[in-house]
Amino acid sequence: MGNKKNFFAPIKAWKYLVKKPISIPMEDIFENPREAADRYRGFHANDWEKCIGCGTCSEICPTNAIVMQEREELPDEDGSKPEKPAIDYGRCTFCGLCVDICTTNSLTMTKEYVHISKDVDDFYFLPKENGIHDIKYENAYVRDEVSELLDLKRYDMVGLEADERKDSFIEIVKGFSKETAIAEASRCVECGICTKTCPATMNIPEYILSIWKDDLEEGVDWLYKTNPLPGVCGRICTHKCETACALGNRGEAVSIRWLKRYIVDNTPEEDYEKVVLANVSKGGEGKVAIVGAGPAGISAGYYLRTMGYEVDIFEAMPLAGGVMRYGIPQYRLPDYSLDKDISFIEKIGVKIHTNTQVGKDIQLEELHSKYDVVFLGTGFFGARGLNIPNSDHKDVHLAMDFLPQVRDFARGVIKDIDVHKSAVVIGGGNVAFDVARSLIRLQEIKYGKSDVKLIALENEEQLPADREEYEEGMEEGIKYQLGCGPQEVMLDDKGNIKGVKGFKCLSIFDGQHRFNPQFDTSDVKMVEGTQVYVSIGQSPDYSYLDKELEEKLGITRGKITKIGKNRQVEGVDWLFAGGDIVQGPDVIHGIADGHEAAKAIDEYLMNGKNKKK
Ligand SMILES: Cc1cc2nc3c(=O)[nH]c(=O)nc-3n(C[C@H](O)[C@H](O)[C@H](O)COP(=O)(O)OP(=O)(O)OC[C@H]3O[C@@H](n4cnc5c(N)ncnc54)[C@H](O)[C@@H]3O)c2cc1C
Ligand code: SF4
Ligand code: SF4
Ligand code: SF4
Repeated sequence: MGNKKNFFAPIKAWKYLVKKPISIPMEDIFENPREAADRYRGFHANDWEKCIGCGTCSEICPTNAIVMQEREELPDEDGSKPEKPAIDYGRCTFCGLCVDICTTNSLTMTKEYVHISKDVDDFYFLPKENGIHDIKYENAYVRDEVSELLDLKRYDMVGLEADERKDSFIEIVKGFSKETAIAEASRCVECGICTKTCPATMNIPEYILSIWKDDLEEGVDWLYKTNPLPGVCGRICTHKCETACALGNRGEAVSIRWLKRYIVDNTPEEDYEKVVLANVSKGGEGKVAIVGAGPAGISAGYYLRTMGYEVDIFEAMPLAGGVMRYGIPQYRLPDYSLDKDISFIEKIGVKIHTNTQVGKDIQLEELHSKYDVVFLGTGFFGARGLNIPNSDHKDVHLAMDFLPQVRDFARGVIKDIDVHKSAVVIGGGNVAFDVARSLIRLQEIKYGKSDVKLIALENEEQLPADREEYEEGMEEGIKYQLGCGPQEVMLDDKGNIKGVKGFKCLSIFDGQHRFNPQFDTSDVKMVEGTQVYVSIGQSPDYSYLDKELEEKLGITRGKITKIGKNRQVEGVDWLFAGGDIVQGPDVIHGIADGHEAAKAIDEYLMNGKNKKK
C-alpha cells in the first residue's frame, strides 16, 4: 500500500502546475491563523507580575536574542530589577532554553506564530502576559519539569546537633568545605538582584564568582570594597539579600552569608593581608575621632583610614566590637572571627583606645578641639527594663547586663555566672533567644540539666525572632509560652521569685498600628522559674552630650533625627553619626552607615577644606 502511494505522489503534484494560484490576504492569516500543534513553540509571553528582571533568560540565550530593557514605569523594589526581556525574533531559534531556565516561571511560549511585516526591525518585541500582540494565546511550551536547568536546592551547612551544642559555647555552624562552597557558588545565576537588597550593596555575584573560580584573593578584594567586617557578617548577618535571591522564587536561595564566611575562613593569611593592606592610600589630610568601636565606628574608621586619614576610635569597654563582642553569644560569633576582622582594621593603622569612655575619661568637647571631625557610633548598648510589679527584684536581670557576662564567661574572663536551675525569659525577638539559649548552656554546664521558659506577647506566627532561632531553641529544650503578656513577677512567702504571671494576649497593635496590647484577663498563665530575664529591647546612652548638642541632634525614641543621608548632623557640620543611634537595626546597616559617613567626611575634608590648622 505504502509503496503504491509513494509511486503516485510525484505525479499528483503536477496537477498544481495547472491550478489557479490562491493568495490569502495577510490580514486574514493574522486574524484567523491555523491553530498550532500542541507544544508548538511560538512567540513568548511574559507575566510581568511574576518576572523579576533577573536577566537569566538573556544570559542563557544561545543566539543572543534577548536584551534586558529598563522600563521607567516599573518600580525599583527589593527582589526585582525594573527590567524586562525584549526578544529579537530575527535571532530567536525557538529553542525554549529561556523558558526552561526562567527563575520565576513567568516566561512561556505560546501558540502564536504569525507576525507579518516588511520591516526587519519590526521583529523585536517586549512580550507581556498577552504575548507580543496583546492577544491571549494558549501556552504551548512551558518549563520542562523533568530537565531542571537551575540547581534549586541548597548545599547543607554542617552544624552541631542539639545534644552536642547545648552544654557549650562552641560555634554551632562548621563552615563549607571547598567542594561544597564551589557547588553552592555554582548555583548563583549572577543576576545581582541581591546586591540592591544588601544595605551595604555588597558585590555579591562578584565574590560568589570568585569562589567558583577558586580565586579567594579576588573574593577578599570584593568583600572589603563595601564591608570591613566580612568574617562577622559571614556568620551573623541578618542576610536580607537571601530573601531577595532570584533562586528563592522556585527553590532555595543561594547561601550568600555562608559563602562570604567561606572566603574569609579559607583565604591564606598572607594573601588576605596583602589584599587588605593594599587598600590604604596616602590621600586624605586630617584627623577623625570616632566614639564607639561597634560596627558603625569600625566601618567609618576603616574606610577613612583607607582614604589616608588619621583615625582614633575611643571605646568604653575593654575590648573593641560593641554588641558583636558583648551581646551576640560565642556559639553564633566566636571571638577568633571578630578578632581576625578587627586585627586588619588595626593593621591598616586605625588606633583603637579601649577602656576610654567619652563623657567620663575624655570629653566630647576635647575631641572636637583636637580632631577635624567626630563620628558617633555609640549604639543601643544599654539594657531596657520592664515596668511590672517586682521587676526590680534582685533576680530579675536585663539582657544587655547579662549577655556581656556570658561573653566574658565564654572567653574565660569570669569563672561563674549566678544562674539558677530554672529561669523565665521575657521577649520574643532574636535577643531574647540569645538570652534563653545562653541560659540553657550555662545551666547545662553548671547543673547538667536545664529549665528555661520563654514568654512572649506574640504567637508563633508573629514571633519577631528568626524561625531558625525558634526551632533550634526548641531543640535545645526551651519551653514556649507564646501569645502571653507578662503582668507580674510572682514571689513566694520568703520573697523569692517563683515565676511570671501573664494574661493571654488578644492583640498587640491597635487600628493605627500603635503598640497597644489587649489581654483576656480571665485567661491567666503562670510560668514558673526562680530567675527572670527581661529582653524587650536595648537603649542608648547620650550622657556624653551636653544639653545644647543633645537638642541639636533632635533625639526621638533614642535615635538622632537631625541628620542627613550622608550621616552628617544638620547644623553641626563637624559631627557625623551612624549605626543603631541613627537607624539600625543590625550590623550590616551599621557598616553601611560607617561607609556612607566616611565618604561624606572625605568630601568635607577634601583638599584641606575644614581642616583645623
Ligand atoms: C544581643 C544582640 C544580638 C544581636 N544579634 C544580631 C545579629 O545576629 N545580627 C545582626 O546583624 N545584628 C544583631 N544585633 C544588632 C547589632 O548588634 C547592632 O545593630 C549593631 O551592633 C549596632 O552597631 P553600632 O555600631 O551602632 O553600635 P554597638 O554595636 O552598640 O556598639 C556601640 C559601642 O559604643 C561604645 N560606647 C557607647 N558609649 C560610649 C562612650 N560614651 N564612649 C566610648 N564608647 C562608647 C559601646 O561600648 C559599644 O562598644 C544584635 C543586637 C543585640 C543586642
Ligand atoms: S527560545 Fe532560545 S533562542 Fe529564542 S530567545 Fe529563548 S533562549 Fe533565545
Ligand atoms: S529569567 Fe524569567 S524572571 Fe528572569 S528576566 Fe527572564 S523572564 Fe524575567
Ligand atoms: S545570590 Fe541569588 S540573587 Fe544574588 S546574584 Fe546569585 S542568584 Fe542572583
